[in-house]
Amino acid sequence: MNIENIEKKIAQYPIFEYAFIDPQEINCFPAVRSICQIECPQFGQSWSCPPAVGSLEECESRIKDYPNALIFSTISEVTDLLNMAEMLSTRGEHIEVVEALKKEVFEDSDEILILTAESCAICEDCAYPDAKCRHPHKMYPCVESHAISVTDICEKNNLSFLNGHNVVTWFGMIFFN
Ligand code: SF4
Repeated sequence: MNIENIEKKIAQYPIFEYAFIDPQEINCFPAVRSICQIECPQFGQSWSCPPAVGSLEECESRIKDYPNALIFSTISEVTDLLNMAEMLSTRGEHIEVVEALKKEVFEDSDEILILTAESCAICEDCAYPDAKCRHPHKMYPCVESHAISVTDICEKNNLSFLNGHNVVTWFGMIFFN
């Protein structure tokens, strides 16, 4: 898909910042996977997280099979950024933008890969590992599940990672042909 057209189309959505990047230049850090494993309660609990998303090598190969990637952020205001429940309650707004981009901007792209923020929260109880994912076309693994460091990409592309003590910054990535 033509990047100029994408830029024109995404201007109508509440996207805070964005950049187009070459997936070949994305670093996949084993340390990011280790942090998932050691610190995230969702590790091993969801189809959208490791180890269900595949090995580090599989994830790296998956993203590098695409010639293009869009990284974008949306922001939401909260009263206290350290209040996890309040912070997570704003994720839905970000996912609405992700869904809109998928349907209205990348509608002609047969094969895209979407990575978003945090673990999939569609079902109250994830089917992992006993049964298949119930919504494989709406389940978007989190960016970190693919060992990608958002801060690393932000630094290289002049994107803001932190935007104030009461602002949640959510990131999404869309890989496309
Ligand atoms: S859609 Fe449901 S089953 Fe699939 S990853 Fe999300 S929570 Fe799990």
